[in-house]
Amino acid sequence: MTYEYERVVTPSTGLRLHLNENTAGCSPKVLDALHRITREQAAFYPDYDAAISAVSTRFGVAADELLLTNGLDEGILAAAVAALRNAGSPNRSEAIVVVPAFDMYAACADAAGGSIVQVPLDEGFTFSTARVLAAIGPRTRLIFLTNPNNPTGQIIATDSVLAIAKAAPGALVFVDEAYADFADQSLVADPRLSAVPNVVVGRTFAKAYGLAALRAGAVFGRPETLAALRRVVPPYSINVCAAITLPVALGDTAYYDWYVAQVRESKAILYDTLDRLRVRYWTSAANFVLADFGTEAGRVIAGLAARQVYVRDRSRDPGCEGCVRITTGIVEHTRTCLEALEEVVCGAA
Ligand SMILES: *Cc1c(COP(=O)(O)O)cnc(C)c1O
Repeated sequence: MTYEYERVVTPSTGLRLHLNENTAGCSPKVLDALHRITREQAAFYPDYDAAISAVSTRFGVAADELLLTNGLDEGILAAAVAALRNAGSPNRSEAIVVVPAFDMYAACADAAGGSIVQVPLDEGFTFSTARVLAAIGPRTRLIFLTNPNNPTGQIIATDSVLAIAKAAPGALVFVDEAYADFADQSLVADPRLSAVPNVVVGRTFAKAYGLAALRAGAVFGRPETLAALRRVVPPYSINVCAAITLPVALGDTAYYDWYVAQVRESKAILYDTLDRLRVRYWTSAANFVLADFGTEAGRVIAGLAARQVYVRDRSRDPGCEGCVRITTGIVEHTRTCLEALEEVVCGAA
């Protein structure tokens, strides 16, 4: 079995609601900062002090409790290499992935030489602590938890994360909080983490902050736990554009707050429309909504694409037959999507 990341090819024009990006773009202040980069800054290896200090202030942790990464993807890869190294056969180290899940967990665990143990969610996509606990074995080295989950938008209770981490002291528990900006809970700086040294928390600046193309993420945890990941990440992994704009993006809290509020409103109007169209969906704590169009899924995706609205087919994910994931960005974009969706669902080809 191969675990390659499925790269989605999408036209450059039209409404991109398939990768959970910030549909408004980055803060205008980020662009100003990019314009001010000097020739020397482009020529010299970057310094990360300002970026680390901005992230440490924003999340309320010490500088040695965070690791900047080239997007959170690199944090996932670093965790996989750190936890699964020396994975060698015949007793291969295992990574537990709760499915449906973000593709990169299996892709990175596989690349690091580990084997993947898939644990399904419960009925209705609720997280099953018991199933994860039952999957933990002597070869478990890494456990990926996504909070809120992608593609379902569902939350994992903090107590579940703590129970799993306690039950697997020999494994690294990677809590992916890529969408926590849109939820009202986060484990970063949570004092309860002091009881579970094997937990690290990943964040990205790609989604709420709109820096997906600049590639900026961070992993948080105890210095001694992060040390294994630090050994994997190359010293100049974050490029100067990301390093310079990160403090600017984090500083523009008005822009961030505006965007998070737009997403909340977008979800509300999307739910209204789906209710009216009698389409089943899962209430989401992220910036996207998973909706079940059943046997109509293919027609809906194609009909939206014909109207230049691109959404993500998740129907081949475990338990997601007929499901489509729709990014909820700014309200104006959501309204455009909903107009197209009504046309498609209510008959027109
Ligand atoms: C988007 C996403 C990431 C990756 O973020 P980057 O910073 O762009 O690499 C990680 N985890 C999940 C669950 C995501 O959806």
